[in-house]
Amino acid sequence: MKLILLGPPGAGKGTQAQELERRHHLIQLSTGDMLRATIASGSELGKEVKGIVESGALVPDEIMIRMISERIAQPDCNNGFILDGFPRTTAQAEALDKMLSEKGLKLDHVIEMSVDADVLAHRIGGRYSCAKCGAGYHDEFQKPGVDGLCDHCGSQEFSRRADDKPETVKARLEAYEKQTAPLLPYYRERGQLRSVDAMASIEDVTQEIERIVAVG
Ligand code: AMP
Repeated sequence: MKLILLGPPGAGKGTQAQELERRHHLIQLSTGDMLRATIASGSELGKEVKGIVESGALVPDEIMIRMISERIAQPDCNNGFILDGFPRTTAQAEALDKMLSEKGLKLDHVIEMSVDADVLAHRIGGRYSCAKCGAGYHDEFQKPGVDGLCDHCGSQEFSRRADDKPETVKARLEAYEKQTAPLLPYYRERGQLRSVDAMASIEDVTQEIERIVAVG
């Protein structure tokens, strides 16, 4: 199964992608995570994209298209993947269509996570993740079962993203509206778009997504 989770920062794409990964043995391909790892590695590419990511703007299409095309060619993606944060522009969506059709593959689902714009800054402001395994948490909506301990790996170290601070969040939401929201009509016109109400609880959103993917 190959699917895209589409929605603004804070819609819950990462949370639901982790859930899908666990339930369906798919690979979560988060371009944001890949970029953060590249930056942390200190490579030339990392140095090139650091300032862009920290400003909340989008990294150039050619870099992102190359990154995803190399990643989906890896054998661990053969069973399927969830794209979380890609595509983010029409050029990326067109490139994805092309790279999949060249491999004789097609997308099974494009799921829009629909959420009211006024809650996004609050959702983003409270989020953090396990520094060891990457599991996502939120100060209010998704606390670990035992305070200060990761539910998944037991680590006591957590981190917050540098670009989750209010000034950057504004730029990221603007980039979404301007560059990524046009992908909704792009996939709707192709009959591929399904929407879930991402204002619902995490569990309810998971169930709604499960209903969509069960249809095949
Ligand atoms: P995310 O973790 O998906 O919120 O992504 C964090 C940041 O990484 C974004 O604000 C962009 O700067 C960059 N980024 C992630 N995915 C993409 C993409 N597909 N195209 C361009 N920039 C991206």
